[in-house]
Amino acid sequence: MDWILECSNCGRTDPPDGLVGVCPACGKPFLVRYPLRDHGMTERAEVRRRWGMWRYRSFLPLEVDEEPITLGEGDTPLLAAPRTAAAFGLGDLWVKDEAANPTGSFKARGLSAAVTRATRAGATGFTLPTAGNAGVAASAYGARAGLPVRVFAPRTTPSVILQQIRAFGGDLQLVDGHIGDCGRLSREHAAATGAVDLSTLREPYRIEGKKTLGLEIAMQLNWKLPAAIIYPTGGGTGLIGMWKAFQELLAAGWVIGDLPRMYVVQAEGCAPIVRAWEAGQASAEAWADPITAASGLRVPGPLGDALILRAVRESGGSAVAIPERTLLDVATRATACEGIDWSPEGGAALAGAMMLQERGAISPEDQVIVFNTGAGWLYREPTGHA
Ligand SMILES: *Cc1c(COP(=O)(O)O)cnc(C)c1O
Repeated sequence: MDWILECSNCGRTDPPDGLVGVCPACGKPFLVRYPLRDHGMTERAEVRRRWGMWRYRSFLPLEVDEEPITLGEGDTPLLAAPRTAAAFGLGDLWVKDEAANPTGSFKARGLSAAVTRATRAGATGFTLPTAGNAGVAASAYGARAGLPVRVFAPRTTPSVILQQIRAFGGDLQLVDGHIGDCGRLSREHAAATGAVDLSTLREPYRIEGKKTLGLEIAMQLNWKLPAAIIYPTGGGTGLIGMWKAFQELLAAGWVIGDLPRMYVVQAEGCAPIVRAWEAGQASAEAWADPITAASGLRVPGPLGDALILRAVRESGGSAVAIPERTLLDVATRATACEGIDWSPEGGAALAGAMMLQERGAISPEDQVIVFNTGAGWLYREPTGHA
């Protein structure tokens, strides 16, 4: 393998033998580094000849001639959204619509990468805690790998998401609590059975899959990055991953100039990163009573807190929290606007764009990318008839 693992906190490096978790020295997440990779213009041209997120294989943890476990994730639309911009008083608005992924959310990207590596390392089964969509993606990619998946999800997770986990064959355990409580149960299950724990940042590869968001935006904009990225943040893998992607693209010479400002958006009912940002802290304390219908944002104590805050600070961004009613209302109104199916998390990000413009952090002339991280239909209660 031509990559190594480097602890994001203490800098310890390890070879990626077998199944890897967090840094054994300090318990913080490992990140993948590729010291020997060739990122020449041949590789850049090669990107145009492949499909899906694995087209960026020269930036991804894949051995030469290895085939990934894939369902065609990635290659999602980057849409100019003039009607939405007009309706919400925004300027040069673009939407990265991750609803178009297999399983209906961008969790597909991370799980494709993690399941690929763990399967190759000899995994016999998987377990993970989820606020919802990661459980759907893990169930689907586990099935694709031919391996069983145990999913621990809060009982309050939207019912369609729970139904999708079961539909893909996931062994769903409902938990009275939030994703942190699910995490403890998942680690116990891993210890007892040998199942591989796929929790966010407890293995180093989900973030590499999420990193393709940044690589893809760069390619879709013909290697010229936008002014700002507005990201609905739970565990923060997408934001950390994109920031890592931009550094790697810059180092490879595939992009030049300023990198985008990275903006975190959270729900007021669970905003540990926003609170830490406003207090000027480098890490976040856990949120005591996380409540929001945007289930992907219901992550009270993200393991990547320091990495999220660092990316926001280094990029010149900031962090804002949206009231619950506003994020739901914006998602509903935006979905009726121009055919994009907004999730509550996406609604939060769009509301975040409005708040940031009001505060003068972004201007109507800035090219702004707002993330719709999952499909709205996953959150709607079935009505039975039209
Ligand atoms: C998981 C999830 C998020 C949060 O993503 P992170 O990268 O973990 O911050 C946002 N929106 C949706 C729809 C999700 O499923």
